Amino acid sequence: MSIAENLKRVRAHISDAAHRAGRTEDAVRLVAVSKTWPESAVQEAAAAGQLDFGENRVQELLEKAPSCSSKLLWHLIGHLQGNKVRKALPLSALIHSVASQKLAEEISRIAGELELTARILLQVNVASDDAKFGFPVEEIRRKFEGIARLPHLEIKGLMTVPPFEENPEKVRPHFATLRKLRDSLANEHGQSLSELSMGMSHDFEVAIAEGATLVRVGSAIFGTRDYSH
Ligand SMILES: *Cc1c(COP(=O)(O)O)cnc(C)c1O
Repeated sequence: MSIAENLKRVRAHISDAAHRAGRTEDAVRLVAVSKTWPESAVQEAAAAGQLDFGENRVQELLEKAPSCSSKLLWHLIGHLQGNKVRKALPLSALIHSVASQKLAEEISRIAGELELTARILLQVNVASDDAKFGFPVEEIRRKFEGIARLPHLEIKGLMTVPPFEENPEKVRPHFATLRKLRDSLANEHGQSLSELSMGMSHDFEVAIAEGATLVRVGSAIFGTRDYSH
């Protein structure tokens, strides 16, 4: 299967899942996760109409984004270190993986220096999984106000990476937790928090049923990643 065919199939599944949930397909944006794949794979997807791409390492973002069409939108979805913020910010349409108050403060400070507003999501560790980054649910409730007050960033919503389950239905409660948390933070703080970044290749349909607005899909589009080199 070519990247174009894979994209077509994934988009059809997104559209079906959205309609089943009583949502419109344009309520869900597909972020094609191009990590580990060369720029040529990005170009192939772009030629098939894909605009949003996700990278989890700043180094790869720096390698690919500047030589691709400026129409493409880059999403940083992986763990971000403070010392990489300055390079990542100008290239990132949205940073999905802000997982500490300290990082949020650093992003705001540097965005101020660069005279831009950073668009971010707060990453939540909904399953309290020690192996995953993200704010524990109780911590984000305490820290939200302080982060929302930072001057040079805009919190667009929440993101999560739940533990892998063979059966995607088992992840549904975690997606529902993220949605409910978003609803209650939005309510309490008078913020729209319109974005919910959740769902990957094998569980994006369940995520859409639970309200995902951004799905991060890699292997279903580009194929199985090879980390051996
Ligand atoms: C790699 C990655 C994805 C995509 O995973 P697939 O299973 O290939 O769709 C999504 N989100 C994050 C944070 C990732 O690191």
